[in-house]
Amino acid sequence: MLSIQASWVEMEYENQYQQAQSSKYDCLLFDLDDTLYPLSSGLAIECRKNIEDYMAQKLCIEDSKIPDMCNLLYKTYGTTMAGLKAIGYDFNYDEYHSFVHGRLPYENLRPEPVLRSLLLSLPLRKVIFTNADEVHAAKALSRLGLEDCFESVISFETLNPTHKSTNSDDEDYNGSSRSTTTPSTEIFDIVGHFSQPDAVSELPKTPIVCKPSEDAIERALKIAKINPQRTMFFDDSIRNIQSGKRVGLHTVLVGTSQRTKGADYALESIHNIREALLDLWETHEKPENVMYSSKVAIETYVTA
Ligand SMILES: [Mg+2]
Repeated sequence: MLSIQASWVEMEYENQYQQAQSSKYDCLLFDLDDTLYPLSSGLAIECRKNIEDYMAQKLCIEDSKIPDMCNLLYKTYGTTMAGLKAIGYDFNYDEYHSFVHGRLPYENLRPEPVLRSLLLSLPLRKVIFTNADEVHAAKALSRLGLEDCFESVISFETLNPTHKSTNSDDEDYNGSSRSTTTPSTEIFDIVGHFSQPDAVSELPKTPIVCKPSEDAIERALKIAKINPQRTMFFDDSIRNIQSGKRVGLHTVLVGTSQRTKGADYALESIHNIREALLDLWETHEKPENVMYSSKVAIETYVTA
């Protein structure tokens, strides 16, 4: 009699679990920088310094103009790199990435065993979506000890696959000695543009595909075969979260407990991921809270 009851509970649990799986989420989509590790690691500040150094040393931009340019390009185009390309600077993408990321203090990133086991315990697809290049993503994930937690990484190269071959055809693709500067007459004056409020509609377009553009997010979802309605998207950037919301993703703003427009949840730290997935977790934990005879059966379902 007891065994029949236990089987019934097992079936009930299985139904609940499958329901949670089919009706809520089947994928978790994560930004990398300042999302899977905290802003306090200092990588973001160093990255910004390196970008400014690149603009001064490689693109020969006047020091006094750099901070304003940086801010405007980032705000307008998603990344400073996308903005620099839009306004007419020509440079090698790999060279830019290795300059900007190559000297980052990766030693500040520590292994995250708790986060690792948390992620591995979740029976959902897990995908990284970063504007950074694949070398940076691999280095950072490896330092965090999370390199085996994700089925794939959508990086700069994933969304911008043609740039490498286009540039290498007629330029010094691997060379670093030649100047990468484009004559200043061809450069669009973005600071001047924004000092004239009437001229906003004539901004040049960027060839780079990156967050927070909705097109970039949609392309990423398509490439990774992700259904936004069944996906939870984690990012520390409010504008990325808002774009994510517009394309139908469930959204979690990371790095603050203050929920803002477009964010379904807000988490001070990614370690609190359980808060965002509470419904799913409750379903997992329910059978352990009721009288239940076969814990082994639960574990089988959870890890399946
Ligand atoms: Mg980020």
